[in-house]
Amino acid sequence: MTIKEIYKNMSYGPAPESASAANDFIDAHDKTFNLYIDGQWKEPSSGKYFDSTNPATKEKLANIAEANDADVDAAVAAAKKALPKWVEIGAHQRARYMYAIARQIQKHSRLFAVLEAMDNGKSIRETRDIDIPLVARHFYHHAGWAQLRDTELKDHKEIGVIGQIIPWNFPLLMMAWKIAPAIAMGNTVVLKPAEFTSLTALLFAEICDQIGLPKGVVNIVTGDGKTGAAIVNHADVQKIAFTGSTEVGKIIRRATAGSGKKLSLELGGKSPFIVFDDADLDSAVEGVVDAIWFNQGQVCCAGSRLLVQESVADKLYKKIRARMERLRVGNSLDKCIDIGAIVAPVQLKVIEDLVKQGVDEGATLWQPSWTCPKDGYFYPPSLFTDVSPSSTVAQVEIFGPVLVAMSFRTHKEAVKLANNTRYGLAASLWTENINLALDIAPQIKAGTVWINCTNVFDAASGFGGYRESGFGREGGKEGLYEYLKPKIEGKFSDKPLTNPNPKGSAKKEKTAKKSDKSNGAFSAIDRTTKMYIGGKQARPDGGYSTVIKGADGTAIGEVSTGNRKDIRNAVEVAQKSTSWQGKTGHSKAQVLYYLAENLAIRQDEFANRLVQMTQQSKSEALKEVDIAIDRIYTYAAHADKYDGNVHHTTHRNVTLAMPEPVGLIAIVCPDESPLLGFISTVIPAIAMGNNVVVIPSETAPFSATDFYQILDTSDVPCGTVNIVTGAKDELATVLAKHDNVDAIWYFGTKEGSKNIELLSADNMKRTWVNNGKYRDWTDKKQAEGTTFLQHATEIKNIWIPYGA
Ligand code: NDP
Repeated sequence: MTIKEIYKNMSYGPAPESASAANDFIDAHDKTFNLYIDGQWKEPSSGKYFDSTNPATKEKLANIAEANDADVDAAVAAAKKALPKWVEIGAHQRARYMYAIARQIQKHSRLFAVLEAMDNGKSIRETRDIDIPLVARHFYHHAGWAQLRDTELKDHKEIGVIGQIIPWNFPLLMMAWKIAPAIAMGNTVVLKPAEFTSLTALLFAEICDQIGLPKGVVNIVTGDGKTGAAIVNHADVQKIAFTGSTEVGKIIRRATAGSGKKLSLELGGKSPFIVFDDADLDSAVEGVVDAIWFNQGQVCCAGSRLLVQESVADKLYKKIRARMERLRVGNSLDKCIDIGAIVAPVQLKVIEDLVKQGVDEGATLWQPSWTCPKDGYFYPPSLFTDVSPSSTVAQVEIFGPVLVAMSFRTHKEAVKLANNTRYGLAASLWTENINLALDIAPQIKAGTVWINCTNVFDAASGFGGYRESGFGREGGKEGLYEYLKPKIEGKFSDKPLTNPNPKGSAKKEKTAKKSDKSNGAFSAIDRTTKMYIGGKQARPDGGYSTVIKGADGTAIGEVSTGNRKDIRNAVEVAQKSTSWQGKTGHSKAQVLYYLAENLAIRQDEFANRLVQMTQQSKSEALKEVDIAIDRIYTYAAHADKYDGNVHHTTHRNVTLAMPEPVGLIAIVCPDESPLLGFISTVIPAIAMGNNVVVIPSETAPFSATDFYQILDTSDVPCGTVNIVTGAKDELATVLAKHDNVDAIWYFGTKEGSKNIELLSADNMKRTWVNNGKYRDWTDKKQAEGTTFLQHATEIKNIWIPYGA
């Protein structure tokens, strides 16, 4: 064919990238890769290796070592040994090492890109232009954070040895997202790549060697799920950072419950891609390509649910089909392809089975007329229309190049459909009306919202989910806290500092009688306090009450014994009540100041109650009320000041990092410091716009029940604060299991903390437990401040592109 003819018909011709440098790297290791532990290559104790295969050709690339428990033990020991020195060398030296890593990644970027494409099956176009530049950027950005740690984050310190487990969809990028912030903050790591895609992590290990990174700071152990589990369960690992399926995320949540290990989970998604009727449809079509055919749709935040306004739906589907017809599937090293290979046969089967199920359930499947090459694990781009919102393909993460389309009529319906998922990772909005976009963005339950763009990432912006998409953020300043702990934690005690009933008279007695008939044997008791649900005093469903004894052992009152149904009622009311969240920071601050003012008016009464319930003197009790008022002022002040950032991302975007309320937080208060324990937890939660269901001190609940009147007289909307009294751990169990609770805070025993973490796994609610470590609630440093606000908020990053 002459050049003139080629220009004329513009027919496709492959543009293959050479694999020779990557093959040389593999050959230099005799096609066999060992474990990178303590700065050395070690053979696996079991002597076992597994195959790594190129999914685009089905050719075997290399043998990869399978690490067992003993190898994980050695890697953790190496990381533990390296830790003190890595901490000691200080922020600047750590920054220099990280800068050196970033430079080496840039220098070898082509090799990384080719190796990644061969190992994963994704296109060289993506690895070269997206994955590897983002990896280098992540190390540069975090070299900066390493330098600034001691000044910008001086109240925090490193956690210790971090276990990190990553998936196969962005092998090197996920590794960078994990390792860079961890070592920048002074931790050492043991990382396990996914079984299908270990090679670039092993090339990275060579780079660590080349730059002279101190031995043991980074350890790479390859293997399967068992290797991952060995890391998760290792006693000397202080934090687990995991990216992968929600199913394994839940296993890890349960496995680490009660261990005191910090946990961040970046899990699956079924992210909405919403197209409004005024959107630029041609741009939206290109957005769809990036949303669901990027990386073969094997992307946790893939825009896999297309929600399109009914009036433009058919027009958009037509354009998408035309675009799909021209997409090209093929070998990952061909620079001209759009879609590469699926990572492995097992994943291909998952996709095929789910697509079949979609067809069986009645959805209409459309695929291009051409067929995929047969020499690799390929799957064509696919579009489902006529999909019911509750069908399998609309709800389950397919993790393949399959787009599921539904239409909506009103904006309200779009939001409802978008949030009709157990996940909450990302969303993409398409409209030419910025007012509409910024109205919808906060209403979507997702950690990232892209406006007129999609799948854009940067090290300066946090990424992470809500609900079953996991918790914790990676990237941005918000992501650093995953690898730090507040220094003040070192001051916490193994025992409660103040005992509410120190003379041994705190025992409660169950009185098997209706609470409203409480006299006779308890004639000294004036009344039974009710619970507080939806702004009203509520009788307990079970009709039981509990006698509370004071510091001198005499009965001082009775409190309603709440049960499962009372919790259910409180959660239902709290979930429905939306007026508090809709208030401005200024309005919330005003209400909180008013609360403080009303508490001040009744300072004497609250102090007397404290004297009655605890061993405190009147002056100590007055001081506790004083601190409570001061604390309410603090959070009233924060209500309109704890705000977000505009991140310096590398794209032409304004990237807004906005702290949002978590939603409905269940708070299980400490037994000690009955007033301050209640105020210090409930007030920061509501200051950030959450609604709460609170279990007050079990042994000394009256400070909380007396507080109803203050809530009533201070314009706190009904349903914002709901209080259920009774057996703390029993009620906490119900809350931890409840699907409509978004987060649970627990201040109690070590066993109680474990129970909460274990039970919360079902809907992956966020947990904050004290692991049986106790704060001094009177100490501002221990019991007040931004740590409480961080737990009360989720950071949502909204990307708004600019430029004419
Ligand atoms: P997994 O969640 O199984 O794997 C993620 C990582 O965890 C891998 O390194 C894996 O090892 C490891 N692992 C597996 N089991 C355990 C365990 N019990 N304890 C500790 N670590 C473990 O994801 P898959 O790779 O199996 O993919 C399955 C599905 O998960 C996909 O179809 C997709 O829907 C979803 N997924 C979501 C991702 C996301 O980013 N949100 C990423 C990848 C998958 P090994 O590789 O050896 O199995």
